Amino acid sequence: MIFRQLFDTTSSTYTYLIASRRGGEAVIIDPVLERVERYLKLLEELDLRLIKAIDTHVHADHITGLGELRNRTKCITVMGEMSGVDVVSMRVTDNERIGIEGMSLETIYTPGHTSDSYSFLMQDRVFTGDTLLIRGTGRTDFQNGNAADQFHSIFNRLLKLPDETLVYPAHDYKGDTVSTIGEERAFNPRLQVSSVQEYVDIMSSLKLPNPKMMDVAIPANLKVGLAQDREELNPFSVDSDGLIALLQSGHNVLIDLRDRSERERHGVIPGSVHAPYSSLSDHLAPGGLLFELSRSTGKRLIFYCAFGERSAMAIEAARDAGIGNVCHLKGGIGAWKLAQGPIAAT
Ligand code: FE
Repeated sequence: MIFRQLFDTTSSTYTYLIASRRGGEAVIIDPVLERVERYLKLLEELDLRLIKAIDTHVHADHITGLGELRNRTKCITVMGEMSGVDVVSMRVTDNERIGIEGMSLETIYTPGHTSDSYSFLMQDRVFTGDTLLIRGTGRTDFQNGNAADQFHSIFNRLLKLPDETLVYPAHDYKGDTVSTIGEERAFNPRLQVSSVQEYVDIMSSLKLPNPKMMDVAIPANLKVGLAQDREELNPFSVDSDGLIALLQSGHNVLIDLRDRSERERHGVIPGSVHAPYSSLSDHLAPGGLLFELSRSTGKRLIFYCAFGERSAMAIEAARDAGIGNVCHLKGGIGAWKLAQGPIAAT
């Protein structure tokens, strides 16, 4: 396994770059905007293809690198379903698996630091965001933070993991890099409490100043979505009503770009072909599923995904591959559901 722990000195943020092998697919957790060039260089040096970029929560102390990485690498941006971010490509729920080649991360919903805080378990290690820090815990006094929720997230979720599980947090201010669940249970001063109330009392007595970047970072981090109303996309975009009309006219084939886990969880638009976005370049190349489908049937490919971000990027990729008879469902299956379009189980 390739595992890199990268540090942003300005915000004391840890960013994790993970892949199962050289030359394979990679995932990045909690990237920082100012460090994007460094991540891109490292990806190139290790011959990795960035597939997914995850934020554990909406950060208040730095601007996320999610949007920039998406623009530069066409990766899938991922956050938890409770996040209020305008658009990410994929929203995950508690216990959901996020797959990349050769590995998967399991989502654990751990609210408390913020109401949109998630941890991610991968084999022997857990990425705890700002929920559980090394000998500390994330503050709970803004962004819908809640000390009682955090107590439950830590005691009933994270501390239930095996003692030897490695703990990789989103920040450290003292120079520590890694801990374990057993170590934190024994030595984290904030966890030496016997009741929720005792924990809440500790957290409410902290009186911390707001992070310096807070007024800039939060609004910026809530707007990481790809602009889907760009003029050049208009000829290739349909809304839910437009899609119903197109489907009735025939000569179209619906392509679902989401991962299998998303299809299972949220259902599919009936009659669609599955071609996951992470393998899009293979599907669009001569001999690939979508290339051949387009050539042999002459039908228009209509892409859809969760919220319209992957499908908007797929338009560009398809046209670059010489497939011009394409369009995408604006707002994805999220918008389709709001318009009460039919959904089928996989
Ligand atoms: Fe935070």
